[in-house]
Amino acid sequence: MHITSKERLQEKIAAWSAFGDAGHGGITRLSLSAPALQARAEFARRAKELGLTLETDDLGNMYATRSGSEKLPRIAMGSHMDSVVCGGNYDGILGVLTGLEVVETLAREKIPTRHPITAMVWTNEEGARFPPAMMCSGIVTGKFDKAAMMAVKDKEGVAFGEALEKSGYLGDLSKRLNPSDYAAYLELHIEQGPVLEDAGITLGVVEGVVGMCNYTIQTRGQSDHAGTTPMNKRQDALHAASQLICSLYVSLGAIDPDLVFTFGHIDCHPNVHTVIPDEVSFSLDARHRDPAVVGRVVEAIKALPREVVGCAVSFQEAWSRNTVPFHKPFVDLVQKNAEALGYSWKRMYSGPGHDAQYVQDMLPSTMIFVPSIRGHSHCEEEKTNLDDCWKGANVLLNTVLDIDRA
Ligand SMILES: [Zn+2]
Repeated sequence: MHITSKERLQEKIAAWSAFGDAGHGGITRLSLSAPALQARAEFARRAKELGLTLETDDLGNMYATRSGSEKLPRIAMGSHMDSVVCGGNYDGILGVLTGLEVVETLAREKIPTRHPITAMVWTNEEGARFPPAMMCSGIVTGKFDKAAMMAVKDKEGVAFGEALEKSGYLGDLSKRLNPSDYAAYLELHIEQGPVLEDAGITLGVVEGVVGMCNYTIQTRGQSDHAGTTPMNKRQDALHAASQLICSLYVSLGAIDPDLVFTFGHIDCHPNVHTVIPDEVSFSLDARHRDPAVVGRVVEAIKALPREVVGCAVSFQEAWSRNTVPFHKPFVDLVQKNAEALGYSWKRMYSGPGHDAQYVQDMLPSTMIFVPSIRGHSHCEEEKTNLDDCWKGANVLLNTVLDIDRA
């Protein structure tokens, strides 16, 4: 077994935490913003220092490659360097830095590989400045239309394409991740939930990304004066929505213990304290690895009453995605290496989406999870113990070497 350097990894995490430092242990590093460009420049500088070949594609995705001894497709590792507003120093960036640390270990210890090994950076995974999330892995794998994505504007009216051109990281379409030049893709990521920490386990062997459905549910009543309308004469759309939400907590909660669901967004019209609401819409996001369980959520929505407390009820599917299973032989290699290195592990599915789930459509892929302290993520408190980050990097290194030998 080979191991990476804990000291070097610690230095990397500290170095990148300066790019977009938000002042309370976290960062704001929106895609293609000034701090994101500093983070890219540092990646490029270190790649050159290690003698890697640096390429960017037409979406600004970066690829730093150490050559192999044979003419074989590359093995890639990567994640993203952009964050949400006041995000943490681990989401995404840890996958980039462990990838870089793996290549650095290979280079410094002169470990030969047959395949070229690539550490990569995806542009705009979070979609916090330019929606949607996973934009560029989505374009590369044919999920999103490039022209439409280039035209997406941020709050200041700057288009993604414009920001990309100004960044200096606009490269060539031929450099994109593709199934003939690449053999595999691996992504290490923080869990972003509390399961590993609660179980006292070091590594998540990720079997796939859970499927989900996302619905918008509306209630429509009648606005009237809040002071003059007796309670029994009201058609209060918020009363109706609250009844629906409470009954869905009960019905969905009974479907399966591993089902997670969230009513994360509510619009209430006219949202004035003296007016009875006439229109309310709310979102329902439900996730489970088993499509049959997601199907039962859909059935529960379809079985909603058409009228509640005098208000009309309607619903639409906003979007959905199927469960994405990762490449089983790679999943097994991750588990084997965690075991061989003496680390505790647990097989699990990812609740959040990741670039790897799109890449899996194109290349054999898998992910490695490391524990998130108290499950915090997308906040400045987000943290993973250095020891766990390093252990994850060691599993990543040995999994790359196994794929290289195969
Ligand atoms: Zn992420």
